[in-house]
Amino acid sequence: MEYSALSIVDIQAGLAAKIFSAYELAEAAFAAIEARDPQVHAFLELTPELAFAAANRVDVALAAGESCGILAGVPMAFKDNMNQMGTHTTCASRMLESYVSPFTATCVAKALEAGALPLGKLNMDEFAFGSSTETSAFGRTFNPWDLERVPGGSSGGSAAAVAAGMATVTLGSDTGGSIRQPAAFCGVVGFKPTYGVVSRYGVVAFGSSLDQVGPFGKTVADVAATLDAIAGRDPRDCTSQESATIFSANLEQGVKGLRIGVVPAFMDAEGVDPEIISATKGALANLEQLGAQIVEVELPNAAAAMAAYYVIGPCEAFSNLSRFDSVRYGYREGGARDLGEQYEQSRAHGFGPEAVRRIMLGSYLLSSGVYETYYYPAQQVRTLITSDYVRAFEQVDAIITPVSPRTAFKFGEIADPTSMYLSDMFTISINIAGNGGLSLPVGPGEKTGLPVGVQIIGPQFKDQNILRVASALESCYSIARLAPLGTGPVGTSSARPPEQTQPHEGGAL
Ligand code: GLN
Repeated sequence: MEYSALSIVDIQAGLAAKIFSAYELAEAAFAAIEARDPQVHAFLELTPELAFAAANRVDVALAAGESCGILAGVPMAFKDNMNQMGTHTTCASRMLESYVSPFTATCVAKALEAGALPLGKLNMDEFAFGSSTETSAFGRTFNPWDLERVPGGSSGGSAAAVAAGMATVTLGSDTGGSIRQPAAFCGVVGFKPTYGVVSRYGVVAFGSSLDQVGPFGKTVADVAATLDAIAGRDPRDCTSQESATIFSANLEQGVKGLRIGVVPAFMDAEGVDPEIISATKGALANLEQLGAQIVEVELPNAAAAMAAYYVIGPCEAFSNLSRFDSVRYGYREGGARDLGEQYEQSRAHGFGPEAVRRIMLGSYLLSSGVYETYYYPAQQVRTLITSDYVRAFEQVDAIITPVSPRTAFKFGEIADPTSMYLSDMFTISINIAGNGGLSLPVGPGEKTGLPVGVQIIGPQFKDQNILRVASALESCYSIARLAPLGTGPVGTSSARPPEQTQPHEGGAL
């Protein structure tokens, strides 16, 4: 069986039938990483000891006939802004280069409790500021579909690791589009659920009122199962919500009778490539074919979302990043004559240019006299956008939009920050309103031949609607989710894992 092609269901079935062991899955995962990550550079750190130890626990439990978690034996990796005890959590910044997590984020802990095999930590834009993973202080990640192009961002490593067949599922975070846009660029499924579905505890904060954790996978079912493992109320994050929903429950229900919204203003927005619009129209036609009714809805204030985001986001980032003061946390530059100089030099040199830009912007926007002019109106705009979505969802069950105005761009192609910010024109309003949004591959684009995603948005806390629509739509496409980098069968590892501590059955991979 080909490791890279395995879904969570395949892994569960293969383990149950003793076709392979969790240990062999870990071996196959590191072999795939060894073969492909030199080209892709999705990983910042590998954690084979942790993965093989987890695999052994799964194999022992299975051999004893114990029931295992949803993610038992699933090779998984985490964005490098998620604390995992004993690993570096750098946020792809010099500022945190030597920081080793003394605790584990709830989303990571839940995945591990569900039996996932932690392969390592994934590259990202520095502190999640960006749309291309080019701002990482530790080198860029390459799009597995075209190594001259960006994987998107900020969770570029999370998307590329799945597209290159190195991890079965990964976690990313999304403040303005950072799960959905890289998923679209890399041709995989990426889901930002409603704000509050997944605990943010232990995820290094960017914009606390906007940040949300979510999964990447090759299929909608993989993403739903991963969300089942990580969702739920966490006393350590007061914004997290109790979840009675089983996200993977309604996937087969189809869309017959559902009302699907389309926003005319988005479909002829300026600066959007025709191939993106045509792929989005194709998705709408497919949904109609499957029995959904397409309804036009208006989001009159959505055009102001970008402006509101680039006020609220930097203000929250400025506040959150103040903890990296070189005293309690972070890079410390030697040779300062006093504390003021130490702060100044350490922060000036520990943070990259985009982080500095956001911090300076947030600091200015929150200063007295300026606050009333920008921050306060931005919050009012936020309320208007949120009410737009509430009104739209009185008419429809889900809304379809593009994810990104174009397919993956080349390294360095978008050099000015404002053009880069426009990458998120279709994703940002969803973070502003707090709703869930999923990126589903519907490409390749007719002009570029690169992956294209459509975004499926749902009412707040109706994330199962989104997954149901996504699953139905997914069945209309038979496009490859794995980029054609060299792949090999499971069980042909050349990487020597640490000593195996438990016997295992299987071996037929
Ligand atoms: N690209 C957006 C930004 O730079 C969103 C990033 C994110 O979602 N973390 O702010």
